[in-house]
Amino acid sequence: MTITDTTDMVRAEGVVKSFGSNTVLKDISLTVRRGEVMCLVGPSGSGKSTFLRCINHLERVDGGRLLVEGDLIGYRERGDKLYELKPKEAAKQRRDIGMVFQRFNLFPHMTALENIIEAPMQVKGQRRAVAEQRGRELLDRVGLSDKAAAYPGHLSGGQQQRVAIARALAMDPKLMLFDEPTSALDPELVGEVLDVMKGLAKDGMTMIVVTHEMGFAREVADSLVFMDGGVVVETGAPREVLADPQHARTRAFLSKVL
Ligand code: ADP
Ligand code: MG
Repeated sequence: MTITDTTDMVRAEGVVKSFGSNTVLKDISLTVRRGEVMCLVGPSGSGKSTFLRCINHLERVDGGRLLVEGDLIGYRERGDKLYELKPKEAAKQRRDIGMVFQRFNLFPHMTALENIIEAPMQVKGQRRAVAEQRGRELLDRVGLSDKAAAYPGHLSGGQQQRVAIARALAMDPKLMLFDEPTSALDPELVGEVLDVMKGLAKDGMTMIVVTHEMGFAREVADSLVFMDGGVVVETGAPREVLADPQHARTRAFLSKVL
């Protein structure tokens, strides 16, 4: 990355996604700049996960354009025609995007460290020694340097989620997507995961975070996007949207989560 390169990290232009006759994303347009944290909030079923999954190639966009660092996700443009990327090309785009889910999805038969080094070794062809050294640095970064040899079943939910974050970081992503990373955690374990995410934000990671943690949004996010029914209802600086929502739907939602 150079200072002169001002390409947006994520740009959605009228993104549409349907499942059969159910149009889940109707018209999503938004921008995330490099180094920004965007919090995406909205009622259940509004299409937040689907939007993240489109960015990460887990779903295919049906209309509009979705770009990461100026690259169209899943497609190649030639003239005015679109061609779907071959699986190998799509996999290459996806490698640079880390995703953390509500459920930690760690491999239960692997230790924390083994979970972290799996993709760098398998996908990037890193040597074990190199991957392990980086893996230990990442465990340290998420505050778990003493848990390298622990299996997921012996870790708390908060610890597992921190391992999942370290695992995503091991691929050196340029963008991190978080889909309700603390929703499955006992309340007393939420803070330790949010603290790791705050650290990432402070270090300049570009992040899109789907969350109901409005304190986090207020403190960390550069922008807050409120989605409902597959459209962006309202977007702005978190403090402004939270203090003075412009739309009735935003007010109704916030009154439930604040
Ligand atoms: P949110 O994350 O905001 O709760 P989702 O993106 O998970 O919303 O879901 C939006 C809508 O899309 C829901 O109505 C859901 O049932 C539907 N949906 C999501 N994934 C699929 C799928 N794979 N097949 C069919 N419908 C889906
Ligand atoms: Mg969801």
